[in-house]
Amino acid sequence: MPHTRAAMREVRAEGGWGVVNTGYCSIHPSSDDTPLGNCRMWDDEDIKVHALMVDAVHRHGALAGVELWHGGSGTGNRYSRMPLISASGISADTTYPGWINLTQSRPMDKQDIRDFRRWHVDAAKRSKSAGFDIIYIYAGMNFGPYQFLLPWLNKRTDEYGGSLENRVRLTREIIEEMKDAVGDTCAVALRFSTDELLQIPSESCESEAHEVISMLSEVPDLWDVKSSSWTTETASARFSEQGAQEPINSFVKPLTSRPVVGVGRFTSPDAMVSQVKRGILDFIGAARPSIADPFLPNKINEGREDEIRECIGCNICVSGYHDCIPVRCTQNPTMGEEWRRDWHPERIPPGDPDQGVLVVGAGPAGLECTRALGLRGFAVTLTDAREELGGRVTIESALPGLATWARVRDYRTNLIQSMGNVDIYRGSQLCTQDVIDFGCENVVIATGATWTREILSMTGRPAGELSGEAVFTPDDIMAGAELEGPVVIYDFDHYYMGSCLAELLRKRGHDVTLVTTASSVSAWTFMNNEMGNIRTRMIELGVNMVFENYLTGFSNGVAALASVYDGGGVSSVEAAALVITGFRKANDALYQELVADRDRLSDAGINIVRSIGDCHVPGAIVHAVYSGHECARTIDAGDSEQAFKKERPMIMV
Ligand code: ADP
Ligand code: SF4
Repeated sequence: MPHTRAAMREVRAEGGWGVVNTGYCSIHPSSDDTPLGNCRMWDDEDIKVHALMVDAVHRHGALAGVELWHGGSGTGNRYSRMPLISASGISADTTYPGWINLTQSRPMDKQDIRDFRRWHVDAAKRSKSAGFDIIYIYAGMNFGPYQFLLPWLNKRTDEYGGSLENRVRLTREIIEEMKDAVGDTCAVALRFSTDELLQIPSESCESEAHEVISMLSEVPDLWDVKSSSWTTETASARFSEQGAQEPINSFVKPLTSRPVVGVGRFTSPDAMVSQVKRGILDFIGAARPSIADPFLPNKINEGREDEIRECIGCNICVSGYHDCIPVRCTQNPTMGEEWRRDWHPERIPPGDPDQGVLVVGAGPAGLECTRALGLRGFAVTLTDAREELGGRVTIESALPGLATWARVRDYRTNLIQSMGNVDIYRGSQLCTQDVIDFGCENVVIATGATWTREILSMTGRPAGELSGEAVFTPDDIMAGAELEGPVVIYDFDHYYMGSCLAELLRKRGHDVTLVTTASSVSAWTFMNNEMGNIRTRMIELGVNMVFENYLTGFSNGVAALASVYDGGGVSSVEAAALVITGFRKANDALYQELVADRDRLSDAGINIVRSIGDCHVPGAIVHAVYSGHECARTIDAGDSEQAFKKERPMIMV
């Protein structure tokens, strides 16, 4: 997606980031992660694809970096169909279902190693032609050169195996050869994972990680240090604090005079400055903070820290990678839309200040819609039935581990409260007549959704609601309902709610059994890299887990279950209370009543009534924010189709 990526990265350069990198960029078809979102530098045709981005980044005075990558056995080659190659034919990541390959890898012979080095050099030369300033070699995260570093993946008996000096040889050769080829104008950077080598004792140093850095100390122009596991590195806020990688990065700087960069989901300028002042890092690296706020550096520079749209650590962006689509972000609805919709995170076309808009509901959808409408200059009135703004994020941020989610509310309320053209009415529940009486020409309904007590039939279809005093929904629990244990949580929502409630109720001292139709707890969270951490937490908390079962009934203190496969294995779990975490229903009664009588609307001078967010379609918070933003951008666009540009493959002639 060259246009999508170039525009997305241009916005970051404009926002003040000093260096803007590509994601992992394959150097050769023997390292192919298709359909996942890796880019390529396979031949000269690929140069112009990258040049588009480089030029865009350079337009704003930033440097452009390319993360050249060979995955070794840590990729799939599903598209190229080339055999996987690795140090000793041992597969990396054999236990992680998403990465399991159905082929093993072939041990590299001497010719393979010569080719491997040459591919790096060729890709570096192409990168230089594309205009890149910083060219990486990737020796981390179970990828090619890193597999040579690890003794359990490298069993070679030649000069590339055995002693650490031998295991480092390939990485050293590649850096030196790349520097010879492009080092006159380009920096050659090493991306290196520290944590696993830190666990290996060394005779001359504290660990083999220390020894590798000492050996290669001045060889690369820049050290980029990180964890070996993507799920650790990108742990969500539910499971890690910002700067969590400090323990595995802090030893590097004393061993080299080259600059050191690292990531850590830094959103606080103080945390960044602290890392630099304490000598942990020279440069602050960022993926998620730059996704949530591409203008974070400029805002720091200009003393506008309170305007930073802080990443909430939800990892929806990570799911974009697994979904093979442009990155999406809960906090930044313009992410991935820079080119195809021409949406800019800081600029929005002005609207008509004489036009009023009434927004009913101040959850993520209503707040984002209000923020963007306010920026456009409309006269906005925002109402919410509750005293506290934020809708679901205010409620859900009280769940264990989700405190950062309140930033979705705080960022927006901070801004709209200071807008002279936005009036906010709290504790103001509106009915249809209220909206009619208000008589505002544009009305946006953002009244959210409500969890239901609906369960599933044995064919997985909606099967009606369960009733009874001991049957609860997540809304009930979050509203403070008292319940008796033991508790069964029946989860077919598959995102965070089931496991968050399990954690909450377990911490309140209840025995909890989490029953799900899926094969894992919070099954969707494979997509945002949370699943392993969630499952571990459930085990640590002593939550009993039952997978691949439907709930077939609940009475007399017993929940009846049956296998999703054949209805067999009928079993029962003792349960004084049942919490159903399944479907949500749109709170769209107000919207439906309004649009049911068009004449009444016209008489009241109301031209447009739109529903947004969960009231329109129940979804995740990312969908609500996007929906609110999209409405604000298009409310005055008439009936024209909401088209967006599409990347088109080039037709070869
Ligand atoms: P979304 O995720 O779509 O933004 P939320 O459920 O988070 O939805 O927020 C919906 C908000 O709408 C809640 O804060 C709720 O108090 C408010 N709300 C619902 N019905 C009304 C109403 N009739 N009048 C005013 N506010 C309402
Ligand atoms: Fe942060 Fe969530 Fe946005 Fe990712 S999607 S950058 S984790 S707010």
